[in-house]
Amino acid sequence: MLVIGSSNGYGLAARITAAFGCGAHSIGVSYERPGDESRTGTAGWYNERAFVGKAQDAGLAAYSINGDAFSNEIKERVCTLIREKLETVDLVVYSIASPRRLDPKTGELYSSVIKPIGKRYSSKTVDFQSGIVSDISIEPATEEEISHTVKVMGGEDWLLWIRTLLDAGVLERGVKTVAFSYLGPAVTYPIYRDGSIGKAKEDLEQTAPRINALLERIGGVSLISVNKALVTRASAVIPVVPLYLSLLYRVMKNKGIHEGCIHQMLRLFQDHLYSAKPGLPDEAGRIRLDDLEMRPDVQHDVTLLWNRIETENLGSLSDFEGFQREFLQHHGFAMPGINYEADVEP
Ligand code: NAD
Repeated sequence: MLVIGSSNGYGLAARITAAFGCGAHSIGVSYERPGDESRTGTAGWYNERAFVGKAQDAGLAAYSINGDAFSNEIKERVCTLIREKLETVDLVVYSIASPRRLDPKTGELYSSVIKPIGKRYSSKTVDFQSGIVSDISIEPATEEEISHTVKVMGGEDWLLWIRTLLDAGVLERGVKTVAFSYLGPAVTYPIYRDGSIGKAKEDLEQTAPRINALLERIGGVSLISVNKALVTRASAVIPVVPLYLSLLYRVMKNKGIHEGCIHQMLRLFQDHLYSAKPGLPDEAGRIRLDDLEMRPDVQHDVTLLWNRIETENLGSLSDFEGFQREFLQHHGFAMPGINYEADVEP
């Protein structure tokens, strides 16, 4: 398999599932900073190395490419690596979350924004360090900001990847490719689904049929999976979402239906991608791994808590502590058994 965005979150979970659940050899592409003499690298840099080590111990081939997945150079390097080491791949997972994209054709740098569209949006939010619940107000995105967000997080780069891989002849007959989207509840619509990032996700979803048309001649298929809201490096920086996540975690944990990235990816593989009787897609043809998050009883309970939440009851009504811990762990902190006071050799 090939995972584009493999060092963290959903991409890393997909790679672990394919490798240790299905025995897949893999190539991962990510953009992480290695450590140098004065400071340690980004968490994903170490995740990549840890994954490769564990996969090799299990007798699986695993290769990492660190660099800008949006560039032509990295796409070419991946094609060469597949040809040399794996010959072909039969699964391509596209799991990039990035604030910026350098267009390889024009050299222009685009930045994404997370803003509402049309009118200002006011809501509750929580400061993830202090735990203070307050009101925020976000001005709407300009037309330019919306189009730039679509450029970064829309489907253009996914399409470029598949075209490049197809032209290089490194896709196996019957290849599957999957990219991840999010819908979420009404409370986050103005900032997510109806906002600038939602426009990018719409574009990503509309790219799936275009990729299907490309892959038809080799019997391939492209899919969109709508995943559950989870703490990752990417989602934690979206305004309002950390508060929603803290409440969602509390409700889903109480009901015994909480899932992390790895559980979501296991369901994707087992019930959808490689099932003899795949789960039914929604009316737009998407796989819905957010089915438990969107269950009416879950959303009902989250809404009740949402209306009551304030700084004073954050600890008792929400799982803010769980949110904070997971956020820190995504960055390599708050891991049990690690002495963070000890000197390290970066
Ligand atoms: P993440 O931040 O955990 O991981 C992003 C990955 O992208 C990392 O491996 C990073 O190295 C890589 N990356 C970023 N820029 C890159 C570049 N220029 N070149 C190469 N690699 C690059 O993010 P995540 O939350 O796992 O998000 C992955 C996808 O899942 C996104 O499309 C996101 O919208 C979607 N999604 C996330 C959630 C959620 O709640 N986290 C829910 C539904 C869908």
